[in-house]
Amino acid sequence: MTVAAVAPARPSREHAARGRAAVIGSGFGGLAAAIRLQSLGFDTVCYEAHDKPGGRAYVYEDAGFTFDAGPTVITAPHCLEELCELSGRRLADYVRLLPVSPLYRLQWSDGVSFDYVADEPGLVEQIRRINPGDVEGYRRFADFTRQVFAKGYEELGAVPFLNFSDMIRAAPALARLRADRSVYATVSRFIKDEHLRQAFSFHPLLVGGNPLDTSCVYTLIHWIERKWGVFFPEGGTGALIRGLARLFSDLGGSLRLNTPVERVAVQTEGGRTKHVVSAGGLPERFDLVVSNADVHHTYATLYRGVPGAARRQRRLERMSWSMSLFVLYFGTNRRYPDLAHHTILFGPRFQGLLRDIFRGSHLPEDFSLYLHAPTITDPGMAPDGGESFYVLSPVPHLGNAAIDWDEAAEGYGDAILESLEAHLPGVRGAIVTRRHFTPADFAEKFRAHHGSAFSVAPQLTQTAYFRPHNRDPDIPGLYLVGAGTHPGAGVPGVVNSAKATCDTIASDFPVAVDELAAG
Ligand SMILES: Cc1cc2nc3c(=O)[nH]c(=O)nc-3n(C[C@H](O)[C@H](O)[C@H](O)COP(=O)(O)OP(=O)(O)OC[C@H]3O[C@@H](n4cnc5c(N)ncnc54)[C@H](O)[C@@H]3O)c2cc1C
Repeated sequence: MTVAAVAPARPSREHAARGRAAVIGSGFGGLAAAIRLQSLGFDTVCYEAHDKPGGRAYVYEDAGFTFDAGPTVITAPHCLEELCELSGRRLADYVRLLPVSPLYRLQWSDGVSFDYVADEPGLVEQIRRINPGDVEGYRRFADFTRQVFAKGYEELGAVPFLNFSDMIRAAPALARLRADRSVYATVSRFIKDEHLRQAFSFHPLLVGGNPLDTSCVYTLIHWIERKWGVFFPEGGTGALIRGLARLFSDLGGSLRLNTPVERVAVQTEGGRTKHVVSAGGLPERFDLVVSNADVHHTYATLYRGVPGAARRQRRLERMSWSMSLFVLYFGTNRRYPDLAHHTILFGPRFQGLLRDIFRGSHLPEDFSLYLHAPTITDPGMAPDGGESFYVLSPVPHLGNAAIDWDEAAEGYGDAILESLEAHLPGVRGAIVTRRHFTPADFAEKFRAHHGSAFSVAPQLTQTAYFRPHNRDPDIPGLYLVGAGTHPGAGVPGVVNSAKATCDTIASDFPVAVDELAAG
């Protein structure tokens, strides 16, 4: 491809932009990066393969029901506020966040139930009801999570670990916190009752990690929830995504939907690297690219043939990938008003099931489920008198278990619904619309390696410096954002990854690219 065949840079403002940036993908991480880049003065184009922004936070609208496809537990709202404050705006002008309480209702197959609330007296009361002997241990555990939060979230969460020396500096603190211990092992040091151990250990599953081998750094999620609580956007997570997309366009950014990027070529022009993005029409030239696409897809397909990409691809193929999910969305013509917004239904097996999900080569017959009932907080998510649900079951990724999901999905969904009858009596007869999303859909629709739902697994050996870096070490001008880079998956994780990535870009491009070329 010659430079002459490329569309010229498009000066979109009266003043010269700091440079031209492309963001590939409009997941939470991509949108957060696009907003930051536009706020930094880059003329930014965000390419999205699908017809709506959001990525895993896509929205389905069926028969009057609104189904958020992915994230529903919104924590650490300050990272979203910060995106608006960069340009002197307020999040409240774009979306209203409603507090959710209890944060989760946990239910076990033996009938034990636990309302996980954010306020300490309420939480302690719930613990006392299950095992009074664990109250003191919980208090020590909470204090531990506060310390992990101060180090792992406040200090290191949005710092890009680009050099090994960054890791060396963080190592003593990680060693002091015994980051080599798993979440479950750490919780078990403080808490004796098995139900309570599970109650304070399940959080890594929210970001694709196995509680049995994810570093106890992830216990900081408990403190995030205690400190800020859990929220649900009015109108659903999709309303938050639409708000962020509107903010990006208010800032002058360009969001191109239905525009999958096919390839990116890297060229040198006047001593500077340019990225030529091909997405349907005329290829366009950019000073930098931030890829929010699956990190394996980024190197194996988008940058295929660019020096350094094949090595990254091979490295990613040696890494451990998070589990996948089976998600069933369904709307009912009746309400279940006694439900909590978020319910976790633990099956009879905990450790054995986790081993099957993360290392097994087949689809386990039993499951632990997360049930989402957004109408409890926002009745507008379903038609009058109806309830909008999704139920999610963690399942092995396709690299471990090559399940034919076309074959398995319907029956697996039926088995889940049958088990839900105990919590939602008569549910099967009340369903008016139903759809599912499988590991094969993650692979096909998001180009997710192994159909993983959360990208590279959050293990200590794949954390911080050992995770794919926010700035590619070999390809100048290529940056990553989202679940596959530091700090990792989950809405706060990917939004903080945008901060780490864009802080790096701001120091790599201190002045307008044209001035750099002239100087
Ligand atoms: C079912 C489910 C439930 C979850 N629940 C929660 C929760 O409650 N709370 C929480 O904090 N986290 C939750 N998570 C995790 C969280 O949703 C993700 O970690 C996060 O949303 C991922 O964001 P991302 O920025 O990495 O981008 P993604 O959401 O992965 O989006 C990437 C985008 O890139 C686009 N793309 C890919 N390739 C191309 C290309 N070649 N050209 C153009 N576009 C491309 C895709 O179409 C997609 O839109 C959940 C995840 C899932 C799947």
